[in-house]
Amino acid sequence: MKTQTQSPYRILLSPPHMSGRERKYVDEVFATNFVAPAGPILSRFEQMFCERTGFSHAVAVSSGTAALHLALRCAGVERGDRVWAPTFTFIASIAPIIYQGATPVLFDCDAHSWNIDLGLVEEELKKAAQRNELPKAIIAVDLYGMPCDLEHLKAIAASYEVAVIADSAEAIGSRREGKHAGFGADCAAFSFNGNKLITTGGGGLLASEDEKLVEYARFLSQQARAPVLHYEHEEIGYNYRMSSINAAVGCGQLEVLEERVTRRREIFENYRKSLGSLPGIRFPDEPAGARANRWLSVLTTNGRPDLAKFILSLNELGIEARRLWKPMHLQGALKGVNVIGGSVAERLFETGLCLPSGTDMTKADEEFVATAVKKIVSEIA
Ligand SMILES: *Cc1c(COP(=O)(O)O)cnc(C)c1O
Repeated sequence: MKTQTQSPYRILLSPPHMSGRERKYVDEVFATNFVAPAGPILSRFEQMFCERTGFSHAVAVSSGTAALHLALRCAGVERGDRVWAPTFTFIASIAPIIYQGATPVLFDCDAHSWNIDLGLVEEELKKAAQRNELPKAIIAVDLYGMPCDLEHLKAIAASYEVAVIADSAEAIGSRREGKHAGFGADCAAFSFNGNKLITTGGGGLLASEDEKLVEYARFLSQQARAPVLHYEHEEIGYNYRMSSINAAVGCGQLEVLEERVTRRREIFENYRKSLGSLPGIRFPDEPAGARANRWLSVLTTNGRPDLAKFILSLNELGIEARRLWKPMHLQGALKGVNVIGGSVAERLFETGLCLPSGTDMTKADEEFVATAVKKIVSEIA
């Protein structure tokens, strides 16, 4: 094959993609001087989020990590409690457990959905109940936007009175049986970080059908200040509220959420079409009933060439690619953590790759990336 010359610009993994409608909302914030304190645009953003996802209540906060931290506080997670979570995820799923002084117990993922292995969870719940070591909460992550089977998880957890928290940070716009990702958990955390499917330039949100839960999270996110005229605090909260400017950007992004999901899915399908039959290359299928947002186009290889070489070769052509999440039980910061299984996650880390998935990539960019991957794979064949 002819050598490919470098792309004239870097083709990034998942850069922000503004719709052009954000300015209108930001101007409104300036016009009303609601730059601070929190103004009406925040409620507008929360309302728009609820309209588009079907959630009844939402509080916008400064990050997805903050939303997860609030979720744990709402579940009553305290020092010494156990919280179960998948090992195959980003550190932000686990860090809030540590903030609370609680103990994470990590679970392997299933090879099909890459989400927490519900068979393992069910087995371990039985054992934990006997040992009197039940977790206070289970965090299910919708990894790379693939929505978890929360109905199944809720059914498993129901008889043990364990809270179910959805880390849907990567899954805005994903659905399962028509329900939005995170729907059915006690609460669901979302992220609007710059690399996510839509962005507020940094931000998060906690959503739930439970109004009291969301109101408590809102209270905690504003320093747990009691509703009186002076500064009265009966408990310790956080400064986690989203700023109005970020919310304004978010309103402009929510307007185009569905378009963005459609385009991400199209990018994934295009990669699958052009690369899916290469030796050793596999793209994850959607479980029945799931409609993933395909936040990042991910694939697995048969381990050849090794991933470092693969990523370096793509980089040299101006293509940003990354390995999949490194399992949490292999992280130095979590050394000694209890893990149930782990070999599926390890294997995915050893063989998996994310390709550029930004919604503003051109057709030519997509073809450029596909050609590069074909070339790299053919060179080792
Ligand atoms: C991005 C992400 C978060 C955290 O979101 P931030 O807004 O970056 O704090 C949490 N969990 C997962 C799985 C994520 O990918």
